[in-house]
Amino acid sequence: MIKTIGILGGGQLGRMMAIAARTMGYNIVVLDPTPNCPCAAVADKQIVAAFDDVEAAKELLTSCDLITYEFENVNQNVANALSAKLPQTSELLRITQNRILEKQTINDAGLKTVAYKSICNRKELEVFVEDYKANVRNIIIKTVQGGYDGKGQYVIKTADELNDFVVSKYNENIEYVAEDFIHFNKEISVIVCRNASGEISIFPVAENIHKNQILHQSIVPARVSNNIIIKANDIALQLATHLNLVGTLAIEMFVCGDDVVVNELAPRPHNSGHYTLNACATNQFEQHIRAVCNLSLSDTKLFTPVVMLNVLGQDTNLMKQENMGKNKLHLYGKTEAKVDRKMGHINVLRESVDKCLIEVEKLLNFNNQ
Ligand code: AMP
Repeated sequence: MIKTIGILGGGQLGRMMAIAARTMGYNIVVLDPTPNCPCAAVADKQIVAAFDDVEAAKELLTSCDLITYEFENVNQNVANALSAKLPQTSELLRITQNRILEKQTINDAGLKTVAYKSICNRKELEVFVEDYKANVRNIIIKTVQGGYDGKGQYVIKTADELNDFVVSKYNENIEYVAEDFIHFNKEISVIVCRNASGEISIFPVAENIHKNQILHQSIVPARVSNNIIIKANDIALQLATHLNLVGTLAIEMFVCGDDVVVNELAPRPHNSGHYTLNACATNQFEQHIRAVCNLSLSDTKLFTPVVMLNVLGQDTNLMKQENMGKNKLHLYGKTEAKVDRKMGHINVLRESVDKCLIEVEKLLNFNNQ
């Protein structure tokens, strides 16, 4: 019987997982290197240790009945040490930690990714530079491992810019992938959960707007055709089945005309699913806990149109409950507000997406005063 759940990573996602798990009656132990991390306030215990500390991971293992994580960049030795109590499996981590392996897996499932070339060593770099000179186009070079929110990404439009990358950015100890820059109509995402018994549930499609490559707003229902919604749901179903998913998978996609192309996967609850906290019958964190505990999954029905607005460190006016009116402000309990640091989010609920967006505009204008 599961009594205590261990969470690797105590940021906002760990905290919101812990809140859901606590509501369901579980105890929580969190492992995070920062004392009083956001999750610590709602956990029974925090193990303060580095994420690659295998001894600390073993302590987490012995204090819990089951372990989950809030981020995919889990050290493989730690993942292996935890594997006896990790229903999500270290294989899912291995795939989603590596953009190339992830794209190959998506293609193996019969799904589209953007065209890409691997640049994993100097030889591949030389071949890529020659090919590029013959076919100059807009590309994005991304690190294969470890990047998030646009970190480790270089947009290149000309042979000179590629040359600059080679001379001043390229590091031969790092693997890269060069993706064609895609002119999408919209970015959308879907969050799918599956338990070990094979039950699958999919949350409504979110339309995502990024600013400086950081998620800014998620709009639900997404303003796309029914055909696109069906395609996005099919992709979620196919990936969850192909991966034998246990837990949660967030799938970020580009809409290009009638086509839906998969951009990237995250094996965990996701920022673009925070709208579910107020707008759905079940939120993504509760569903995640249900999925990893192999409980039956609950209803993901959307009760109301919603726009989720991220609150970053510079958004000082948006961090005050007294400014929120009837909107729902969620704060993550972070003490230091650095620029671009995710401090919280606001769920704006109205009768229509248009009305939500008008309210979001008001909040943004107020924030800029
Ligand atoms: P990622 O870290 O891959 O999610 O990229 C962050 C953001 O950069 C995405 O949400 C897109 O807005 C943009 N982006 C990433 N890859 C591409 C691409 N191949 N073409 C155009 N935009 C991209």
